[in-house]
Amino acid sequence: MPLKLPDRICFRVSRCCNARCVFCLAPATGVMVDGDTLAHRIDWLLSHGVRGFDFCGGEPALHPELPRLLAHVHGRRKKAALTTNGIEMSDTLVSALLTTKTRVKVSLHGDRTHHNAMVGCEAFDRTTATIRDLLRSGIATSVQTTVVSGKTWVVDWLIDFCLTTGIRRLSILPFLPRGTGRTRQEHFALSTAQRGALHNHVTARRRALNGRLDLRWLNLSVQPIHVVEVDGSIILEGPTEARDRVICRIPAPAGTEQLMAARENDWS
Ligand code: SF4
Repeated sequence: MPLKLPDRICFRVSRCCNARCVFCLAPATGVMVDGDTLAHRIDWLLSHGVRGFDFCGGEPALHPELPRLLAHVHGRRKKAALTTNGIEMSDTLVSALLTTKTRVKVSLHGDRTHHNAMVGCEAFDRTTATIRDLLRSGIATSVQTTVVSGKTWVVDWLIDFCLTTGIRRLSILPFLPRGTGRTRQEHFALSTAQRGALHNHVTARRRALNGRLDLRWLNLSVQPIHVVEVDGSIILEGPTEARDRVICRIPAPAGTEQLMAARENDWS
């Protein structure tokens, strides 16, 4: 059967991260894929119909070659986006985001106390400073938040934050029992009733905002997404790892197979 990939794909550049979120979908393993291999994967995906790349990780902003990869995609007249925790953002990266017209989605989960508890470090001040810097630089910036049980107030808090800072899009992601979250679902998972009430609240607030803020509901439990993992596998990710499906593996660049095998051993 011919390989059918979506127009856009989530593209992991590393499994390194400077946070330790309690609901991390892709926990840190320390693997950082080199820029040449990533550029090769991008070209392979382009040759298989992919038109847009959502750079993710780990924390993709930590990858020293991310500016080069953004330029690589832009040079091929395709679109890139970046999902980041906003803890660190170099001037070089900000400049590359601007030049390549890359959209940025920053993860922010509530006020200082709650956000820091969720990401496992003192990140709130740096993340919110990054959001303001990105907006000041003219970079299209949105916010994404993961909502856990008992903390649905964060939706209203984040709506106020976005309206105050000038963010135009907020995505709400209910907690998923994947990755780190799989071991913590008894604390954080929303019941069916809680999830339904949250969805209704988001729908009502979206209507009331009347276009002032694009409030989105991301339900990954019914919308599996294609993800390129750090070992080059393309996975159709479902709401739990048990429902993931490996689609194929991007071949390693010629002459680098041994190097790739060594990296996989690092990961295991
Ligand atoms: S959710 Fe993102 S920022 Fe948080 S630990 Fe995982 S990779 Fe890092």
